[in-house]
Amino acid sequence: MEIACNRMDRGFKRYQEEFETKTLEILRSGYYILGKEVSAFESEFASFLGIPYCIGVGSGLSALQIAFHLLGIGKGDEVIVPANTYIASVLGVTLNDATPIFVEPDKFYNIDAGKIEEKISERTRAILVVHLYGQAANMTEIMNIARKHNLRVVEDCAQSHGASYEGQQTGTFGDFGCFSFYPTKNLGAFGDGGALVTADAKLADAVRVYRNYGSRKKYYNEMMGVNSRLDELQAGLLRVRLAHLDELNAERKRMALYYQEHIINSKFILPEVRTGAEAVWHQYIVRVKGRDEIQQKLQRKGIGTMVHYPIPPHLSEALRYLNLQKGSYPITECYADEVLSLPFYNGMLEEELQYVADVINSFS
Ligand SMILES: *Cc1c(COP(=O)(O)O)cnc(C)c1O
Repeated sequence: MEIACNRMDRGFKRYQEEFETKTLEILRSGYYILGKEVSAFESEFASFLGIPYCIGVGSGLSALQIAFHLLGIGKGDEVIVPANTYIASVLGVTLNDATPIFVEPDKFYNIDAGKIEEKISERTRAILVVHLYGQAANMTEIMNIARKHNLRVVEDCAQSHGASYEGQQTGTFGDFGCFSFYPTKNLGAFGDGGALVTADAKLADAVRVYRNYGSRKKYYNEMMGVNSRLDELQAGLLRVRLAHLDELNAERKRMALYYQEHIINSKFILPEVRTGAEAVWHQYIVRVKGRDEIQQKLQRKGIGTMVHYPIPPHLSEALRYLNLQKGSYPITECYADEVLSLPFYNGMLEEELQYVADVINSFS
């Protein structure tokens, strides 16, 4: 059997008619930027999350960059960030010339809240939380630390659409929640897209103006802005997908449970869910020693896998100026050597899940 690590076509085909109808409707409308689809999506996504404001932007990275910029975080400021994350999370900080201060992950792959306070200095302005792989970080403890030290909180929810902690949606705890709608995300568009959500009316207003050249009224520019807009087509298609997000996430949860119950091989460390967290399983991550060899063995059996992520941000070429050596974040580096993402996508068949589990169980 041939099983790709990810397949976008399955998720599309299930709602093909709805997507195609919506596409034609928008193409024929003659309105393509900042129209009624974007405002409708913004209010529908805000109400899905249970937060007052959502503002569509061009991408997840753009959302992060805008969040730190509008919180006034820049040169000379430090931001606490998870060491174990995708580099885009950290770029939201570095693009604003602020300095990322890394903190090791807990066993749920998210920032270890117990290790944050020792990294806070008089320059620290904010904590960046990433709800990695679809599971909420320990928000109760993180928000307590932020309040105690008067720090801003930005949540990177690019992998956690619909995930919650103690019944509250990710993205609604901090000053800003930043979402990506890159096609492979749980709530994916058919191109690039992103959004910021916030409960603060002033911040929401600032994002609305900033994303559109700093202009509220055409050709009147009240601040320096950027061009970072969600377009009508993506917004319309996201509305279709959002209407099905709960069922798509429920399917992922069933698939994860299948792997949890059927993979029985002591060499493989399966993911755990934090008490109080409701995961949406953006990826299904296992850990295994000799990962690269296992990955090749799986490939020979027709099973595609990926590594999220092979090089931690602190060791990437791009952040070499921070001068962080190999060995400085050993837990993160160990995860980078051992994590493996198994095939996992909406529309994956039970026989495919079973085949993956059987092959893994056959490894001694
Ligand atoms: C995808 C992703 C981003 C970036 O989103 P884009 O829309 O691709 O810019 C940021 N952070 C995390 C954790 C992501 O997975």
